[in-house]
This record gives sequence, structure tokens and C-alpha cells, in this order.
Amino acid sequence: TKSSCIITGASSGLGLATAKALTESGEWHVVMACRDFLKAEKAAKSVGLPKGSYTVMHLDLASLESVRQFVTNFRNSGMPLDVLVCNAAVYFPTAKEPTFSAEGFELSVATNHLGHFLLARLLLEDLEKSQSKAKRLIIVGSITGNTNTLAGNIPPKANLGDLRGLSGGLNGVNASPMIDGGAFDGAKAYKDSKVCNMLTMQEFHRRYHEKTGIAFTSLYPGCIATTGLFRSHIPLFRTLFPPFQKYITKGFVSEEESGKRLAQVVSDPSLSKSGVYWSWNNDSSSFENVLSEEASNQDKAKKVWEISEKLVGLE
Ligand code: NDP
Repeated sequence: TKSSCIITGASSGLGLATAKALTESGEWHVVMACRDFLKAEKAAKSVGLPKGSYTVMHLDLASLESVRQFVTNFRNSGMPLDVLVCNAAVYFPTAKEPTFSAEGFELSVATNHLGHFLLARLLLEDLEKSQSKAKRLIIVGSITGNTNTLAGNIPPKANLGDLRGLSGGLNGVNASPMIDGGAFDGAKAYKDSKVCNMLTMQEFHRRYHEKTGIAFTSLYPGCIATTGLFRSHIPLFRTLFPPFQKYITKGFVSEEESGKRLAQVVSDPSLSKSGVYWSWNNDSSSFENVLSEEASNQDKAKKVWEISEKLVGLE
């Protein structure tokens, strides 16, 4: 029988390419957890996902109610869960003002971090029940949260500060919409959310790896300069960014290649180690990458975990 994998945000970019790589192998059934049902169904057809190899289920990470409803729907489907991939993300680099999730949290941290945090916490018990030897929980990270790299040092840099904005609920009313309590900056909010993703993966590893046997990992798939992530950037940026990445930084990867990388983290027996942040060399060989100081800070990971529990109502 096939193994089963949930991928959030599988309606475009990396998530869709990963769904393609996994279902083509014939060994995986993919649950595409998407906010736009029709778009997901069209996307699946457009890349030719084999019929019967995928199921589209509704999930809007910007609503905690929707996250809980998704978990109920998934359980009712009776499907087992072997791997969960937290992949969806939004990025608002040119926004002048913050926008907010259903619960009133700044939208990029709400979607990229808090929605996934609740989803992963709820589905942990489903993963635990998996009969598979390779149960995995993967949270897609990014180099932009790594201030120990060149790309991670392009301003504005990620910085969670003392977490005062997060503690206050990121609501832009009586608390800053930014985790560190500063003024709104859309590009920074995205980077901060990716640092939360990487901290969460490591905190999961420390709390649950030994107890459950689940492998918790993150990855930087390479710069996939053509995806929808950059949809709200200025047109000049969208024209120049792909060739810049291709010829100058040489970090460019195609959506297809990035999908193969993430599919490897899902299914390759040699990438089964827990607590690892995977990256790839230019020749596409994988290696265990080092995280920036902040993205590997244990104390901060614990605090982000505890505050996030309060915000999503898990205490
Ligand atoms: P895309 O914009 O192509 O895909 C993002 C996906 O997230 C889409 O399917 C989108 O749905 C979905 N999504 C957005 N908001 C929600 C929501 N509220 N609920 C459910 N799904 C939602 O971007 P990428 O494929 O590039 O990004 C995928 C991951 O890769 C992200 O985690 C990103 O941080 C990471 N990454 C990307 C890099 C790159 O260079 N592109 C580099 C490093 C990391 P919809 O189709 O409906 O909009």
C-alpha cells in the first residue's frame, strides 16, 4: 500500500512540484491541503498528477478554526498519516500596512508560523499512529532566516528580539504587528516567520523525537525565483530576480528540482535523521546545514513555543 503525506500549499510552486515528484513515484498518496479548492484541482491537472494519487482538502492557515476543521476532516477520511509537510507561506515585501488573520494576528506570521504550529501540534498524534518506519514532520525553512549566510544578511534582517510583539498577540492594536515589537515591515515579518519555523522544528525534535520516533526536519530548497511567493513584489523585481539568482548568486533552482529535493526529505531513507536543516550543494547533493545563532537558540525556541501555544489556544 502507498504511504500518505499531507502537503500544505500544494496548489503552486514548491508544494505542487513536491506533490508531482511523490505521486509520480507511485509510492505516495498526497493530500493537498489548500485554501483554494478549485485552484488546487486545476493545478493538479495542469502538472498531470496521476488520477487517484491525490486528494484535495480545504485548509486556510490564516484561520485557526479552519485548521481545526481540516484536522477533523482528515481524520474522518480514515487515511493514515505518515508525513506532514508544512510548506505554505505568504510574503508581503511591498506592503505599507499590515493585514491580519481571522484571529487578528499579523498575516504572514499567522499563516507561515501560527497556523502551521497548531496544525502540526494537532496532527502529532496521527503521525504517532503511523505504521511507517519513516514518520516525518517537515517544516520548510529559508535561507532568509539565516543571518550566517550572505543572502540572510540582506536587510531587513530577521530578528525576533525579546518577543514582545508576539507575546502581545501581533494585533497592531495594543501590540506591535511585529514579533520584536518594532514598526511593520512586510519583508522582515516573512523572515521572522521563517525563523519561527526553524525554531519550531528543533523544539519538536527536543520534545518529541525520542518519545515518538518521528523525524523532525527543515530545509532550504534553494532559491526558486519563479514561484508565486514573489507575486506581490514590484514588476521590475519579478523580471530581474530570476536571472540575478541564476547568473549572480547561482542559487537558482527550478520548481521541478526544488520539488525533487523536498520529496527526498519526505521519502529518502538516507535523509531520516531528526533535528536537521537540510540544504543542497550546486551539484544537488544534500548536506546538514548550520543555522544562524538566533535560529538555533534553544531558549528562544522554548519561548516561541510557549507563547504560540497561548495564541493558538493549546494550553
Ligand atoms: P508559492 O506562493 O508558489 O506557494 C505558496 C503556497 O502557499 C500556495 O499554494 C498558496 O496557496 C499557499 N498558501 C498561502 N496562504 C495560505 C493559507 N492561508 N492557507 C493555505 N495555504 C496558503 O510559494 P513557494 O512555493 O515559493 O513557497 C513554498 C515554501 O517554500 C514556503 O514555505 C517558502 O517560505 C519556501 N521557500 C521558498 C523559496 C523561494 O525561493 N521561492 C526559498 C526558500 C523557501 P494559493 O495557491 O491559494 O495562493
